[in-house]
Amino acid sequence: MDASETPFLKKSRFTQFVVRENALDKLGFQEWIFYPGMLFNAMDKWWSNQEKRDKPHEGLDLCFYRDCEDKMLRLDEKTKIPVLYDGTVVRVMDDFIGKSVMVEHRPLDSDYPRLCTIYGHTNLSNGLHVGRIVKAGDIVANLARPNKSQRNIPPHLHISVGWISQNISYENLYWETMDTLKELRWVDPLGVIRRHFLQ
Ligand SMILES: [Zn+2]
Repeated sequence: MDASETPFLKKSRFTQFVVRENALDKLGFQEWIFYPGMLFNAMDKWWSNQEKRDKPHEGLDLCFYRDCEDKMLRLDEKTKIPVLYDGTVVRVMDDFIGKSVMVEHRPLDSDYPRLCTIYGHTNLSNGLHVGRIVKAGDIVANLARPNKSQRNIPPHLHISVGWISQNISYENLYWETMDTLKELRWVDPLGVIRRHFLQ
């Protein structure tokens, strides 16, 4: 098969992992809140007066959530970031706020493109390196604090989920060029993580 087909993906318990690892249940976490610009393929930013993005959004931004009293809370730079599925850390790249950690998940078979997830705008956890084997829910990073010139951007997690063909080597991946690769197909992360905590 080629990367234009996307096999069915089992839902990740990612939202439960985030809530558990950051004790957000104590704050009454109910569900993620998304502005249109946070969604997959959005053309607008959700900060800076909703200016246009340079290219369609390659993933999903997570920042705000609703508590049980309907109050809106948000993640901060202490927020620990768990991985969606079991896998191996295969790449660490710079992004415009921090680092992006890329994890490859076990291929369904060797003819399939590889399933990868990326956790962007983060600082790596101590000792994390390419080659590290991780389990679903393991913490790989915490959110990065945007720099002074990015004061209008709150700390947030960018998640990308994609299928990457076997003939691309991870060392050559950079955010600037990934979108030009025909061998890479992004899918909507909202298809694999749950919006609600208890569901
Ligand atoms: Zn994003």
